[in-house]
Amino acid sequence: MNIAIAGGGFSGMIAAIAAANAGADVTIFEHMPRIGKKLLLTGNGRCNISNADMDPKHFHGGNTDRIKAVLEQCPREETLAFFEKLGLYITDKNGYMYPFCEQASAVLDTLRFAIRDLNIEVYTETDIKIIDKRERFIISTGNGCFEFDRLILCCGSGANRNTGSDGSGYTLARNLGHNIIKPLPALTNLVCSDEFFPSIAGIRTMAAVSLYSVDDNGDSKILGKEYGQLQFTKTGISGICVFNLSYLAVTALEQKRPVKAMIDLLPDISWSQIGEFISNRRDLFSSRPVEEFFAGLLAKPLGLCICKRCGIDLKRKTSSISDDELPNLCKMIKEFEAEVTSYGNFESAQVSQGGVDLDEIRDNLESRIEPGLFFAGEILDVNGDCGGYNLQWAASSGLLAGREASR
Ligand SMILES: Cc1cc2nc3c(=O)[nH]c(=O)nc-3n(C[C@H](O)[C@H](O)[C@H](O)COP(=O)(O)OP(=O)(O)OC[C@H]3O[C@@H](n4cnc5c(N)ncnc54)[C@H](O)[C@@H]3O)c2cc1C
Repeated sequence: MNIAIAGGGFSGMIAAIAAANAGADVTIFEHMPRIGKKLLLTGNGRCNISNADMDPKHFHGGNTDRIKAVLEQCPREETLAFFEKLGLYITDKNGYMYPFCEQASAVLDTLRFAIRDLNIEVYTETDIKIIDKRERFIISTGNGCFEFDRLILCCGSGANRNTGSDGSGYTLARNLGHNIIKPLPALTNLVCSDEFFPSIAGIRTMAAVSLYSVDDNGDSKILGKEYGQLQFTKTGISGICVFNLSYLAVTALEQKRPVKAMIDLLPDISWSQIGEFISNRRDLFSSRPVEEFFAGLLAKPLGLCICKRCGIDLKRKTSSISDDELPNLCKMIKEFEAEVTSYGNFESAQVSQGGVDLDEIRDNLESRIEPGLFFAGEILDVNGDCGGYNLQWAASSGLLAGREASR
């Protein structure tokens, strides 16, 4: 059995090793000068490879049963055992899994060395242009034509194109008869319309962020809520909690629905306590100017922004904040509102949502349309939360596809 792996990224390298371990004769085609370029960027170069919490709620896509089926057939434990066999020592840092040496290059090295030791053929700088299915798969590249019994498409998405994932895999899949759910950015920043963002850009704070949109009846509905570190940017909001919510905002905006972010800037103080808390501060610092009211509690520009948005002059005395103005301040702290108008593009997104339609794939990742064709990784309509879920998906699907394709 000879198997072609289209794309030498994380899922492709794992699929290749799994297939070769099962006795197949494997060839990887990669159009970049080296395999695994994107892997080197992951986790800021430290590679957050998996997570202790494997609740399926961290994975999103068009067919959640199929995602679950893949993760059940090839669970995290199996992928960790796979890496261990390659010599990679992985540690758990508060639930986030990293290579012990905290270097993505170490993960890449273990994969590269296994590929070499298993005599897997690797063609780099070899762009797959066309794939034809006759008796076998005929792969036309810039460096000639090749024939294979089986094919695993692992070309990634369109996120971060300079790593090689340029979206060309979708065209290859489409030409083989597959439907592509529109690829859109995920794990990205959100752009907000309000003019005050430049004044608070750069501030990081723990916050609870909720996103709202409207349903088909025009009624307001919550899209999702996340707690974590929030970062204000010149144009809006970013940070892990925003990244995790971004796919929901992107989908709603694509459907031309309005999206609103509601930010709780003091999530550890309840709505019932906040009034008393703010009122006590007013008494405590009554002689200070309003511009000093939030000193020690919130970053200065954020405190000023809250006062300004409440229409409270910064030169006034704190004691002059009226009982009528207090609830506005509380609301601004607990429900700091911003209209989301757009989102970071594929260049700033870590992953893509959308991709090869999961309804056209069997639980073992083989195409229902083209027998012998398998898929793995981000090319599929699956996107995970921040925290190692996307590499976990790439590893589970790569391992499963490699094993199944070599049967
Ligand atoms: C900055 C950044 C940080 C990230 N950090 C994390 C993290 O810490 N944890 C985590 O879980 N996820 C992280 N991710 C996401 C994760 O890297 C991806 O989900 C994962 O790499 C997807 O693997 P893949 O094999 O499907 O695709 P890729 O790794 O993108 O590989 C696809 C490969 O196919 C090749 N290719 C494409 N088309 C062709 C063609 N026509 N011919 C030949 N070759 C082709 C590409 O060059 C590429 O090498 C991060 C992503 C980015 C951008």
